[in-house]
Amino acid sequence: MIETLFRNAFGAAPAVSGFTPGRVNLIGEHTDYNGGYVLPTALELGLNIALSPRNDNSIRIISEGYDEVAQIALDGKVEEHWSDYARGALVFAGKNGLMSGGADIAVISNLPQGAGLSSSAAITVGLLKLARSLSKSELDDVKISQIARQIENDFIGMPCGIMDQMAVAIAQPGQALFLDTAALIYKVIDIPESHHMAVIHSGKYRLLNEGRYKERKEECDVVKESLGRDDICQISDKDFSSLAKLDNVYQRRARHCMTEHRRTIRAAKALKDKDFKSLGQLMVESHISMRDDFEISLPAIDILVEDAVALGANGARMTGGGFGGCIVACVEKSRLNDWRNALLAKHQDAFYVC
Ligand code: ADP
Ligand code: MG
Repeated sequence: MIETLFRNAFGAAPAVSGFTPGRVNLIGEHTDYNGGYVLPTALELGLNIALSPRNDNSIRIISEGYDEVAQIALDGKVEEHWSDYARGALVFAGKNGLMSGGADIAVISNLPQGAGLSSSAAITVGLLKLARSLSKSELDDVKISQIARQIENDFIGMPCGIMDQMAVAIAQPGQALFLDTAALIYKVIDIPESHHMAVIHSGKYRLLNEGRYKERKEECDVVKESLGRDDICQISDKDFSSLAKLDNVYQRRARHCMTEHRRTIRAAKALKDKDFKSLGQLMVESHISMRDDFEISLPAIDILVEDAVALGANGARMTGGGFGGCIVACVEKSRLNDWRNALLAKHQDAFYVC
């Protein structure tokens, strides 16, 4: 229990506590910094966080799984320490009038980290929401998401879009968020009871800030420069043909953004209509686009996705930033157990997340 962990570490009950889910993206990959749609869903797994404000500028943080109570100054440099995201959240809570000093924090998570399931967004959004509840601020969840994104962009130096923060701030477990990342307009869609969006970890680990995510973002910047606009996702086929002068790599990056955006709109409709055949097909097409045009998959993940579909999923694809992490598969609940056992028997490194 989060209250017990907090009390054992800091000797008093926390002032506030709450749960923030992780998220998995069903479709719409690398569209969120290119003016497109995304369709993430909140997971049952996530972070329980408890917090009490402090009168000084220090932070004490305990997180199950880390063998220390970290004690840090609010105004120190980013240390490449596990507490960086939490510290960033408090620094930005301060800048936005949600908090006026440090805090004692306890975290219990059942969400794997670094798996593309947004534990980082869950910790920043979770802490900002707790600070909001203490300050009685009226900042809405969209604004909280924007601040959480700033923490990743400006404090951590991770150039992510807004999808993760919006997904974990707004969607509840079992709900998908059909989000226009340019206008920040969204619709919440319930995942029908008949199906499960299964998350399987490939067993291949990646570090997002190791550079390849930045590389793709920079390649998109070249496309944006050539188009004279930032919303690559929204371009027409005619606009796309104007990119013929660019190296083929950039054309493929642009084609992924353009087609992935269109697939995401169709997938949201399919989900709403309970048309799992179309949804599954779109997920498969999305994976092929990530594999061939955006080039962010790995051969081992391609095979995992192929087997997931061959063994009875409606559709499957790699999910998250790329180069490792998880796949997501749309599976009829009545087949889930058999499907999962058969898939994991073929892939010794893979494991079921949720
Ligand atoms: P993810 O794909 O899970 O978002 P990231 O590398 O973006 O992976 O974020 C992981 C970072 O988020 C960790 O290094 C840590 O700073 C923070 N974090 C995530 N979960 C926890 C936790 N349970 N306790 C403390 N910090 C956490
Ligand atoms: Mg993250």
